[in-house]
Amino acid sequence: MTRSAAADVTPRTCAWPRCQVAVRADRLMCVPDWRRVPKPLRDAIWEHYRHGQTALTCTPEYREALRAVMTWARERQAEADAQAARAAELAALQEPLW
Ligand SMILES: [Zn+2]
Repeated sequence: MTRSAAADVTPRTCAWPRCQVAVRADRLMCVPDWRRVPKPLRDAIWEHYRHGQTALTCTPEYREALRAVMTWARERQAEADAQAARAAELAALQEPLW
């Protein structure tokens, strides 16, 4: 039986919100973003990851681990966005003073 290798070479981007870095098909995130994720969450991904799995074939445990990682990432990104918005607001307020 021959199997298409297409799934293995499909370019994909990092799963971190809005990160556009290209990653290998068997990686969830780019290295800098992956390192930001707390170790227990990363360990859960590795524990349940199976090579060649897809969204349709992955286990419920993997899906749950993925959900935890993505929830954590979205929260961190939302905090960073809010901080950037406050900084921009402050800069806009100070501008007329100069
Ligand atoms: Zn990334």
